[in-house]
Amino acid sequence: MEADSTTYDSGSYINNSNDKNIFFPFTASPRNIALYEELLIKKGDKPLECQIVERLQNFGLLSTSLQCPEARPDCNLVCKPARVVDRVQWVCEGCKKKQPIRTGSFFYKLQCSILQAMQMIFAWCEDAEITEAAEFFDVKFRTASIIYEKLDELTATQMRRTKLGGEGAAVLTEMYPDCLNRQSPDTTDQAHALQILMVADTKQIPTNYRLHVMKSNLKKVPFSDTLQLIQAEVQEVISSVIESDPLLVCGNNVPPVDAAVPLTQLLQHCDVEMQHFLSTRVWRQALTLCGAARDLCACASTPVCGGAMQLYLDTALYRLRHEHDFYRHVLTLLTSFVQ
Ligand SMILES: [Zn+2]
Repeated sequence: MEADSTTYDSGSYINNSNDKNIFFPFTASPRNIALYEELLIKKGDKPLECQIVERLQNFGLLSTSLQCPEARPDCNLVCKPARVVDRVQWVCEGCKKKQPIRTGSFFYKLQCSILQAMQMIFAWCEDAEITEAAEFFDVKFRTASIIYEKLDELTATQMRRTKLGGEGAAVLTEMYPDCLNRQSPDTTDQAHALQILMVADTKQIPTNYRLHVMKSNLKKVPFSDTLQLIQAEVQEVISSVIESDPLLVCGNNVPPVDAAVPLTQLLQHCDVEMQHFLSTRVWRQALTLCGAARDLCACASTPVCGGAMQLYLDTALYRLRHEHDFYRHVLTLLTSFVQ
């Protein structure tokens, strides 16, 4: 923790330069708070809205130049103060047309101020509960949901692009919840569980995972066909998430796939500590996420809750992988919206 921040109960206090305490009803990391302060706290006399626009333009979150849609020879858009929510807008010196300062950015058409959108992004980065955050920042639930959904989709898409494996890597697979046993018992209340194929890259520290919600067992086919479908799906997922032929190790609950070594065979060549790591410890974080994903499943096995679980898992894995300085990381991703 930095000297200027303290954590109190479940919330966080920060002190800004005017020595006013700012409180969030959720815990927040010092690095994220520092960036929050840098971008969103008023300094000097200018209206805060104008300061935020300037800072976000510098960050690359808002356009610094835009083409006028009229495209007349004398068209030239400039930033001007205005009586609008954002306090600044684009005005064309030629045709006099006006456009929101948010045109061509993540904030375009969001029904809240840019400050509030930045606050909700901050809350999302801290994995804050949406209702609580929306209420605290005075954002309509509908708008808050749009922001949260956009960020979920964006980060899940990024996650799905990443690969496991590479030169000299060992990639392990295991099936949840089939792998739960006396060592790591099934402690969730949620009875229904879709299977999740867990894939771990042991070369990375902390371990890199991909977690895939299985679809095969949702199809209404005879049991023997289901097994074949599961095998085909596992094969397909593994081929799509790994690269450059790592050592592929199949856990005890995963159907055999091409070129994979069974875990039992690998364990024969390892010392006790390595055996413990490969069979148990490597999955610790993945099991926590799979357990949490099960809570999303309130219904019988349907593709709908499978989709929600998959989105949750991808987003959660992305968070794990980019834990450090996450607010800055996410804002940097959002600069890709800027035209
Ligand atoms: Zn114009």
